[in-house]
Amino acid sequence: MYVRGVGPRVAEMLAAKGIHTAEDLLYHLPFRYEDRQNPRSLDELKPGETASVIGEVRGSALLRTRRMPLFELTVGQGRHALKCVWFNATYLNGKFQAGQTIAVYGKVEPSRSSSNLKMIQPQFELLPDASDDAETLLLEVGRITPVYESLGGARLTSRWQRKVIFRLLESIKGVVPESLPRVLLARLSMPSRESALREVHFPPEGTPFAQLQASGTPAHRRLIFEELFYLELGLELKRRRMKERKGIAFVTTDKVREALREVLPFHPTTAQKRALAEIVSDMRQPTPMRRLLQGDVGSGKTIVALQAMLVALENGYQAALMAPTEILATQHYLAARKLLERSSRKPRIVLLTGSLDEDRKRYTRGQINRGEAQLVIGTHALIEEKVEFDRLGLVVVDEQHRFGVMQRFKLMKKPSDAEPDVLVMTATPIPRTLALSLYGDLDLSVLDELPPGRTPIVTRRVPEERSADVWDFVRKQVEQGRQAYIVYPVIEGAKADQPELDFSQDEPCNAEATSPASPPSSAGKRTSRKGKSANLFPLEAPAPGKSNLKSAVEMHHALRNGPLAGLRVGLLHGRLDADEKDVVMRRFQRGEIDVLVSTTVIEVGVDVPNATVMVVEHAERFGLAQLHQLRGRVGRGAAKSYCILITGKRVSEVGEERLNAMVRTQDGFELAELDLTLRGPGEFFGTRQAGLPEFRVANIVRDRQLLELAKQEAARFAHHPDAEITEAERARVWARLKEAWQRRYGLVEAG
Ligand code: ADP
Ligand code: MG
Repeated sequence: MYVRGVGPRVAEMLAAKGIHTAEDLLYHLPFRYEDRQNPRSLDELKPGETASVIGEVRGSALLRTRRMPLFELTVGQGRHALKCVWFNATYLNGKFQAGQTIAVYGKVEPSRSSSNLKMIQPQFELLPDASDDAETLLLEVGRITPVYESLGGARLTSRWQRKVIFRLLESIKGVVPESLPRVLLARLSMPSRESALREVHFPPEGTPFAQLQASGTPAHRRLIFEELFYLELGLELKRRRMKERKGIAFVTTDKVREALREVLPFHPTTAQKRALAEIVSDMRQPTPMRRLLQGDVGSGKTIVALQAMLVALENGYQAALMAPTEILATQHYLAARKLLERSSRKPRIVLLTGSLDEDRKRYTRGQINRGEAQLVIGTHALIEEKVEFDRLGLVVVDEQHRFGVMQRFKLMKKPSDAEPDVLVMTATPIPRTLALSLYGDLDLSVLDELPPGRTPIVTRRVPEERSADVWDFVRKQVEQGRQAYIVYPVIEGAKADQPELDFSQDEPCNAEATSPASPPSSAGKRTSRKGKSANLFPLEAPAPGKSNLKSAVEMHHALRNGPLAGLRVGLLHGRLDADEKDVVMRRFQRGEIDVLVSTTVIEVGVDVPNATVMVVEHAERFGLAQLHQLRGRVGRGAAKSYCILITGKRVSEVGEERLNAMVRTQDGFELAELDLTLRGPGEFFGTRQAGLPEFRVANIVRDRQLLELAKQEAARFAHHPDAEITEAERARVWARLKEAWQRRYGLVEAG
């Protein structure tokens, strides 16, 4: 379609922003609005109000103060004036000329120097004057005005978008195809697509402003619902298609049940029993299982997975377990061997990781290939090497957030005839409604109960200055035969040859990656958005040039030669090679190391019940999910455990919230909820790597209720559609679904 104002050059610029069609442009919604229906007059304004003021530029100046440059602008209205101030805004210098009309929007503050009022860092826009075209005037003055994020350079400004979108809407008046069935819209009292699009861009007079800002108008809700509906519909179909595929119908005879019972070293919790029953019930179906086992740290996922694997083994199939790190794979391997010692069948268990030497790998692959190995435990080596299973029946993937979705599916494509069952385990507590909607292609089992006999972990926050007390405490615990972890955000301090950069604006996240397969190209990439916490895929990068940031290597040295002298202090971090890591971890597990100084490599899954103290230095730098995972490393035995969060002097507001939450609660789901709101869904779910689609208008945290609604409606449409839905409407929905999934959710579609 031809859009006025969009020539080939502009089209190219838009494409760079992912906008390829007129429709894409229409779904690029304003990120905020300005209420210029009632611009305020300066004589009635009071400090504390947030208001829109339209006035005349009187003068401007760039002031160089000792701390930073300040840009000041005076906006006048008759005899009144408003002073606007922007910090560090050298770029504004020379932008304004006296006499121009300007709209400013912000909070009104009292001004000390004069009786004038002041606005700090207001939003502003130079307005057209009377000589400008009528269209511009119409769009920007005397109405609720949409404000867009720039689509590039000085050209595709908010104003440009306003005009182009306005014209576009004019030109397609009455011909915008509806994308949802009419009866559905009627039932939900949602506006048509065309009026929704018109109204999100150019809200009619009287639209409640707060509702607009919160993306909560009927127009917004309709567009958000539409997007989520197509996501859920796709998941629904995918699930249905899976039910048509050929899987393995395992049988559970008394003999199998006995085999499961004989390996149990303890009474399973009710939650473990329920989860196992759900898994086994899936495994008995002739269709492939796709199930997510979700359980907080320490909830006992391992034994459930092992029992499921036993079902496969008892049926004469092989089972594979893939862990994200060598440490974890080894730990699972040792645990499996120990548990299956009690098994009368004595299956052969093998470990396949990247660090084995070539001969060993080849030998192990041979065992797997010939079916001599029944239980295969490993890392990415399981999918990266030329592993060919003899009769693979069940795949368990541990900590799915550490794997790309694609990889998850690669493993499943290996077998020859029927598809194996897949069980994904995650310790990330995803709020149930979200998990159900986002992993709609997986069935969900939740371990919502901890094994008995755990005493709550005492969590304390300690300021840096008092760390001597912490070391005394660690020493006392070790004297009582306990062990401790001390965790640092970085491996080593800044090297002298690295530039000194100022990262004080945001919170660096330099914790390290635990996955040996994380691509090297991602190293050094970092989130720089202000106020965002360390992400779920922390990167192994050296510290930004901050000399006061303690590191694992340095503190290992300092502690063993100082406050912890005489204790056996070990060091673990991601730059050690796999063998070295393994040696350290085993020595810690055997109690040959008292105190383990580490980075976040120990974050996931390591199980040493005798460890009772988790000290985290620079705790304010860690994300909530990370802190929770770290704390989960202790409190795994009967002894009382402690989590000590040592914090520096400057902690951001978000940092405070995270630390307070850690002290307040141990409930993983509660922490996850908070984490979601603090970080937003993209970072919470680890963005693309978790296979999460990127949304155009929806925000799955904010729009959780609409997500639920969309899920219900999608299921209804797929299974029991309303009788009033016409053939043409159905065809349009399917066509749109196909397009949406190919274009937007390509990643999820794999498999
Ligand atoms: P996670 O869910 O974090 O993987 P694990 O499977 O590692 O948890 O279990 C944590 C600890 O709890 C392990 O030491 C395990 O042996 C123990 N455990 C698991 N289930 C039970 C149970 N039902 N009763 C007692 N201890 C249990
Ligand atoms: Mg585990």
